[in-house]
Amino acid sequence: QAKHRGKNQYCLYDKQMERELLRRMELEKDLRMALAKDQFVVHYQPKWDASSNRPIGVEALLRWNHPGFGRVSPDEFIPIAEETGLIVPITRWVLGQACRDCFEWNEGREVPLSVSVNMSVSVFDSKNLEDMVVSALLHSSLEGKLLELEITETIVMHNVEDVVEQLKPLRERGVLISMDDFGAGYSSLGSLDLIPFQTLKIDKLYMQQSESPSKRAIVHTIIMLAKQLNLDVIAEGVENEQQIAFLQSAGCSMMQGFYFSKPMARADLDLWLQQSMFVSHPQTSQSMFG
Ligand code: C2E
Ligand code: MG
Ligand code: MG
Ligand code: MG
Repeated sequence: QAKHRGKNQYCLYDKQMERELLRRMELEKDLRMALAKDQFVVHYQPKWDASSNRPIGVEALLRWNHPGFGRVSPDEFIPIAEETGLIVPITRWVLGQACRDCFEWNEGREVPLSVSVNMSVSVFDSKNLEDMVVSALLHSSLEGKLLELEITETIVMHNVEDVVEQLKPLRERGVLISMDDFGAGYSSLGSLDLIPFQTLKIDKLYMQQSESPSKRAIVHTIIMLAKQLNLDVIAEGVENEQQIAFLQSAGCSMMQGFYFSKPMARADLDLWLQQSMFVSHPQTSQSMFG
């Protein structure tokens, strides 16, 4: 009996692996054509400042509408893009789109909203970063200080000198650099002050486990660290008012997450921005200390 079941399980497992492998091959093949076939869309998720009760910027998040599989998550296709080198043309495209959109939504706005674009570590290997960013800025007429690059902390496993060298000309144009997913895994405190970051983004795992005393202690420490290093700090993955209250009491007023908004298509972002001038979020509309 057991033997029989074991064999069946083996077959199931085998089938499952085969399906995954086929999907992966299919995705890799189709990813090569996705740009030309216009299958990518950039969605935008607002970042919120609870102390001024206003949006402060927007993160660009890439979406792939695959003709057969439907919406494929960036967690699945970005690694494929990195392995195949397709990440370079894809990032170039996202940067161009994000800068044009950002220029447009700031027309007529009193306080401009910045845009941030996620940067794979492998883009640094291609040595195309400066060219990509400069041409996106030139073609969109966007000011450098309205563009932010989000780099995950795995960057510190890289050749830090080379990373600093590539970021230098961008910083000179005012482009901002943030460390994404801080605390998720590889943080090396040693390199924090070598790479010219302006902002730390606290990984969403800390909000998902915000009831845990040790996670709360770490969040307090990250916020203190950011203050000591003169960096801004923003919490990712904020979904409820308890998390907002905790962040406010810990001294972190910048937040991003489904509580404020999911990532949206450009047209929906425009509507959301109009509404956000009139509606304020209940928890953040009054001081938590008052
Ligand atoms: P990330 O840069 O850390 O982006 C935040 C992710 O958290 C996004 O997932 C966003 O939709 C999700 N998120 C935002 N608020 C909440 C919340 O309140 N709760 C929960 N559970 N999740 C929330 P998404 O869009 O699926 O992107 C996943 C990752 O893919 C991104 O993580 C980023 O590393 C990567 N990615 C997305 N677009 C690009 C891109 O254009 N280029 C590169 N290189 N990577 C990208
Ligand atoms: Mg990000
Ligand atoms: Mg993140
Ligand atoms: Mg992430």
